Amino acid sequence: MDCIFCKIIKGEIPSEKVYETENLVAFKDISPMAPVHILIIPKTHIGGADELNEDNAAVVSEIMLAARHIAEAFNLDNGWRVVTNVKEDGGQTVRHLHFHLLGGKKLNTELA
Ligand code: AMP
Ligand code: ZN
Repeated sequence: MDCIFCKIIKGEIPSEKVYETENLVAFKDISPMAPVHILIIPKTHIGGADELNEDNAAVVSEIMLAARHIAEAFNLDNGWRVVTNVKEDGGQTVRHLHFHLLGGKKLNTELA
């Protein structure tokens, strides 16, 4: 499958990994929107949150726990945000489920 995030998981495309477990990997976003901008993705290909189901959704809990660990490692003591974009209206450009972890500045509070 022609998925850039699957290629990052396989090491076929370079990335700056910051965290990894059996089921997920986290790496720096190539065009950061905040001083800390990390993408956390499942190693299994899931197109987006719209493809979550009872069999594959447990990884989302692992991703949120990873976000907490990464936020601590990057000293985001003042706060942080996790966002996932879904399909065209949600602004999703890479069709492999990913969660943006953003922090390191006072984030824009306008959500939509
Ligand atoms: P989204 O728009 O929510 O689908 O987010 C996709 C994100 O992936 C964007 O923030 C891109 O900057 C980021 N991105 C795309 N290609 C790469 C890459 N090769 N390495 C790291 N981040 C990437
Ligand atoms: Zn993929």
